Amino acid sequence: MSNPSLLILPGDGIGPEVMTEVRKVIDWYGANRGLSFDVSEDLVGGAAYDAHGAPLSDETMARAQDADAVLLGAVGGPQYDVLDFSLKPERGLLRLRKEMDLFANLRPAQCFDALADFSSLKADVVGGLDIMIVRELTSGVYFGEPRGIHKEGNERVGINTQRYTESEIARVARSAFELARKRDNRVCSMEKANVMESGVLWRDVVTEIHAAEYSDVELSHMYADAGAMQLTRWPKQFDVIVTDNLFGDLLSDLAAMLTGSLGMLPSASLGAPMANGRPKALYEPVHGSAPDIAGQGKANPIACILSFAMALRYSFDQGEEATRLEDAVEAVLADGLRTADLIGEEGRAPVSTSEMGDAVLAKLTSSLS
Ligand code: NAD
Repeated sequence: MSNPSLLILPGDGIGPEVMTEVRKVIDWYGANRGLSFDVSEDLVGGAAYDAHGAPLSDETMARAQDADAVLLGAVGGPQYDVLDFSLKPERGLLRLRKEMDLFANLRPAQCFDALADFSSLKADVVGGLDIMIVRELTSGVYFGEPRGIHKEGNERVGINTQRYTESEIARVARSAFELARKRDNRVCSMEKANVMESGVLWRDVVTEIHAAEYSDVELSHMYADAGAMQLTRWPKQFDVIVTDNLFGDLLSDLAAMLTGSLGMLPSASLGAPMANGRPKALYEPVHGSAPDIAGQGKANPIACILSFAMALRYSFDQGEEATRLEDAVEAVLADGLRTADLIGEEGRAPVSTSEMGDAVLAKLTSSLS
């Protein structure tokens, strides 16, 4: 059998720097765990614009559709601010998400004990936190019609429409239940069924899918505003949260900040299963291209490394190897190694991007003995 294929799109700014560290990790798995991938690399964002005049070429799009998983660094940079909207680096990313129909956005909020003091919440509230927010990504109020700004009498009116079909709700609910089965087997669905019809339908469909297909998973419902409060009061009560595009946008950013730094946050966007059973999948750190630190060896590669751990778990069914990688990251942090973004008041000396990557590799190797 051929190796699974992995398309790597490093992108712009710190994207290529953090991806260099991920390539080392991928090579380590090939050399030490018999887990080899057919890795190819291509351009996205400003780098693609510079080479081809477009932020994602049709050829790269086709390769992404064919790959078993896509791993992206980051896109963007101030030099592209002057470009027309359709040519901006971010359009490359949006095209990938849209054409691969990646409807489920997975945003874990995980707080490694060694970084608990870094959160704005108390260490005992966030220490050991491990929750997953599943946000519907391709429908809802960001896409619903009618939309626009028009004139009514003497004033302008701005309109957006929250619209969900049953099938759109059902497929993201299934993603959440499937994930829960690989975790602590609990799903909390969040909407505003008290004031929105789309929320009533959301709650109905999630309840129906649960009863018909996932009754082994524990399901609860919460209004999204109450959910926001509970996330800051006692986030460890949750395992998987499933919610719509708008609420998910807010709640996933809120949950992310429970854990401290942007440089630590991975994400996955998943679509429908392909012929080989694997979901269409794009893995990327939550952070952007960080032009302020690009090219200085200061970037934290952990968000991108943890994005590869998500690929191991959700695309390649290698949960144990994903845990090995997450444990290696945790061990490095427990040893006190910090890139500059993880240094607070204590004033310790930061390690560079490549020193952090090498330290993770060393922990991976020591996990074998
Ligand atoms: P950003 O995430 O790039 O940076 C925000 C701050 O966090 C900066 O101070 C940066 O130095 C720091 N930071 C981010 N990632 C880090 C890491 N791995 N290690 C250490 N520090 C890190 O957001 P921004 O400054 O608002 O945007 C910069 C560019 O990135 C823009 O062009 C924006 O459009 C783009 N962007 C891209 C994505 C993406 O590719 N998914 C996401 C957000 C922003």
